[in-house]
Amino acid sequence: MSKGNMQPIFILPEGSQRTFGREAQRNNIMAAKLVAETVRTTLGPKGMDKMIVDALGDITITNDGVTILQEMQIEHPAAKMIVEVAKTQEDEVGDGTTTAVVIAGELLKNAERLLEQDIHPTVIARGYRMAEAKAQEILLKMAENIGEKDDDALRKIAMTAMTGKGAEASKEKLADITVRAVKHVLIKINDKIEIDSNDIKIEKKVGASVEQSELIEGIAVDKERVHSAMPKMVRNAKIALVDSALEIKNTEIDAKIQITDPNQMQAFLDMEEKMLKGMVDKVEKSGASVIFCQKGIDDMAQYYLSKKGIYACRRVKKSDMEGLAKATGAKIVTNLDDLSASELGTAGLIEERKVGDEDMTFVSECKKAKTVTILIRGGTEHVADEVKRAITDAVGDVIASLKVGKIVAGAGAPEIELARELRKFSNTLSGREQLAVMAFADSMEIIPRTLAENAGLDPIDMLTALKNAHDKGEKWAGIDVFKGKPMDAWKAGVIEPLKIKTQAISSASEAAVMILRIDDVIAGSGKSGGMPPGQMPEM
Ligand code: ADP
Ligand code: MG
Repeated sequence: MSKGNMQPIFILPEGSQRTFGREAQRNNIMAAKLVAETVRTTLGPKGMDKMIVDALGDITITNDGVTILQEMQIEHPAAKMIVEVAKTQEDEVGDGTTTAVVIAGELLKNAERLLEQDIHPTVIARGYRMAEAKAQEILLKMAENIGEKDDDALRKIAMTAMTGKGAEASKEKLADITVRAVKHVLIKINDKIEIDSNDIKIEKKVGASVEQSELIEGIAVDKERVHSAMPKMVRNAKIALVDSALEIKNTEIDAKIQITDPNQMQAFLDMEEKMLKGMVDKVEKSGASVIFCQKGIDDMAQYYLSKKGIYACRRVKKSDMEGLAKATGAKIVTNLDDLSASELGTAGLIEERKVGDEDMTFVSECKKAKTVTILIRGGTEHVADEVKRAITDAVGDVIASLKVGKIVAGAGAPEIELARELRKFSNTLSGREQLAVMAFADSMEIIPRTLAENAGLDPIDMLTALKNAHDKGEKWAGIDVFKGKPMDAWKAGVIEPLKIKTQAISSASEAAVMILRIDDVIAGSGKSGGMPPGQMPEM
């Protein structure tokens, strides 16, 4: 190219934003750290809650890591990757979302220190991977066994999940419900425990105290029967599930019907009535004694159903329809012409009962699946919502404990032990990876440190005391956040599934490594600063 004739070359559309090298890394790490910093104050029994107000003014008050991050609608791409860590944790375990995010943030913070010493990101990434693999080994070695008969330990796991949440005041009762629920749906196949978390439905109903929450063997559908002349209770029910309306379809276009004679009007109404009656006849002919309809049921159809003694609910939630299908063995039918005896499901008892001021339909004694419903009560919507999240965590923890069959104590004990063992491991290494493994070990201490800070304790004193205890071989030495001194977390009953820890560490380090390896961020035009939601390039 001749001098003086230099044309700038654009390979990106106008307005694109590009950052690379250290600056890109710094930005990404900063964003990830900010996310971790946001949820950090909620960790542990003394963690605080967040109030999130969305664009519509709806308020959520929560202590749950993943809920906070989802409600916040984070947009920075690297920050979004950290939110993904929380989501993975939520999907895989159901609890430990704050822990996972806080660890990811700390791994990146400590990596930054190494980057500043000119250690190449790929070296840090390699060291982190080595440390992560070792951490999994250490955790597995320190874990204890658990089986489905260990009710006491299972209840402690549920209670640990609820500590510091809205559910805390009634945690004994709720822990008992949680354990019974999980054990009810548990099946054993060749000595292997299988639990489908979808078999445990969690419903909430505002109006009574949390203490009044109950476990229902079967499915509680938040719908009443559509007509008061229908039976309140049906034994040995044959159940039809229909996902189309029992109504006459409204014409899409406005049609005018010219009626010149009152008889014609009557004929028209008769026609409609006949069609609705025909629909009800089809339901009756199939042999159904109960129908759950996902859409509406016309008044006239309601009347005919009640005359035939059929119990009917309308506008049933899709998730309930699916739960009913699984529990009763019914097939969801769209066209009433397809409804026959073979599509029906069965349940020993269907009953309408009052819960608070409202009526609900209880489907129990299902043969196909042992579904249960945890019916959560709470004085207000916010209370019930937060209790529901805590129970979801508790259910996830009990399931994860039983599926893996391994548990650990919490309160920072496993993290201190990990840091200790990983430092020992780093001494067997040489070169720069050693520094990365050390940084990984340091990062583990963020959990006990945060637990101490959130409880208003001096983190340095606390960590020193814990390390001394672990040096003496007390592997379950953790923080007593109420008394402000070390305790044997195992004896104190602070117990968690091993899976919380292994999953948190693996997804946190995966995300940290992924973010570290990015040295170039290219954002399409107009995507800097206030990006409209939903328009981010998928990372
Ligand atoms: P996460 O979203 O990570 O589950 P939590 O707010 O539930 O966050 O806090 C979990 C942490 O609190 C774990 O490290 C756990 O061991 C600790 N923890 C729970 N109960 C106690 C307790 N009674 N004393 C000390 N630490 C506890
Ligand atoms: Mg938790």
